[in-house]
Amino acid sequence: MINMACPIVGEKEDRLIKEVLDSGVLASGKYVKQFERSFARYSGTKFGIATVNGTASLHVALLMCGIKPGDKVITTPFSFIATSNSILFCSARPVFVDIDPRTFNISPIEIEKALKKEKNIKAVLIVHLYGLPCDMEAIVALKKKYGFVLIEDSCQAHGAEFKNKKVGSFGEASAFSFYATKNMMTGEGGIVLTSNEEADKYGRQLINHGRYSHSLHTTLGYNYRLTNIAAAIGIAQLEQLESWIEKRIVNAKKYNEAFKNLDFLKTPYVPKNCRHVFHQYTVRLSSAERNKFIEYLTDNGVDSGVYYDSVLYRQPLYERSGYGSVMCEAAEKAVGEVLSLPVHPSLSGNDVDRIIKIVSGYRK
Ligand SMILES: *Cc1c(COP(=O)(O)O)cnc(C)c1O
Repeated sequence: MINMACPIVGEKEDRLIKEVLDSGVLASGKYVKQFERSFARYSGTKFGIATVNGTASLHVALLMCGIKPGDKVITTPFSFIATSNSILFCSARPVFVDIDPRTFNISPIEIEKALKKEKNIKAVLIVHLYGLPCDMEAIVALKKKYGFVLIEDSCQAHGAEFKNKKVGSFGEASAFSFYATKNMMTGEGGIVLTSNEEADKYGRQLINHGRYSHSLHTTLGYNYRLTNIAAAIGIAQLEQLESWIEKRIVNAKKYNEAFKNLDFLKTPYVPKNCRHVFHQYTVRLSSAERNKFIEYLTDNGVDSGVYYDSVLYRQPLYERSGYGSVMCEAAEKAVGEVLSLPVHPSLSGNDVDRIIKIVSGYRK
């Protein structure tokens, strides 16, 4: 079976992990600091706060930006549930707005409609889904016009760029995940980025029990700290990230070329000015066809994945909380039609050719 994901661990990860284990400094340590600085520099922000996972990073990013109980936060219904759950963690209220059906990302037009309709929107939490940046020109223009706080869920988009500027550097704060199947990983792990010094200081307290100085706790915080072991893995992974992204892009280009004339699927749309890092290579096909196609791929040894098969407001947790009447048509259509194919950098040339042959052979 050709799998959907396959984490790559090299000699440097082995060496650094061994060094950390031998040093005895297993929790916070020098590699955490080094990793925070390197990842922030790579992404174009001043500060980085390493955390236990992407979900914790989202939680901290929202708190750092002053999201309080009762605040309204606009977000997309077409994402992993951690996105909107992080808003619930703050006892704030997600306001779901529809996606642009071409990119699967939150629609700036729909954001503006919601800003006009709902008063007191505090923040907008965007998601660069599958590794494709949102329309940052339009979103930054809306931010200037309406003055909301912008937070980026960049958990799938390490290294993605809009007009040569990396995602995670547009908003007040952003969150990344280093879960095992992301474009780079630390097993479990995450980071919060910001260029605001006050926010950085507060965020550091939040991940460490609200600690201000050795024995002084001035706010309610958590234990969200990343280990030195995980950070050592992250340092080695970050050195490879660009080469892995390039491989993903090459694989995606081969698929685009090979699939462009197939009448039963649509290849991903990449707007000008965007560097899509292809965390997922996601095609669209009719909902009547999707299950048959998945079965056909499985029978031929090719794994695939549906991200996501439900909009967030239809999850029981949200239906129970008064979201029963929300309707985002483009997102509801997308959940029935999307399908992701393996695109990761561990695929050999043969794997890619085989996937192309099998996909192209459907219905022949
Ligand atoms: C992976 C992911 C998260 C959560 O990250 P974890 O490290 O698994 O907690 C949040 N949002 C999106 C869009 C993700 O893909």
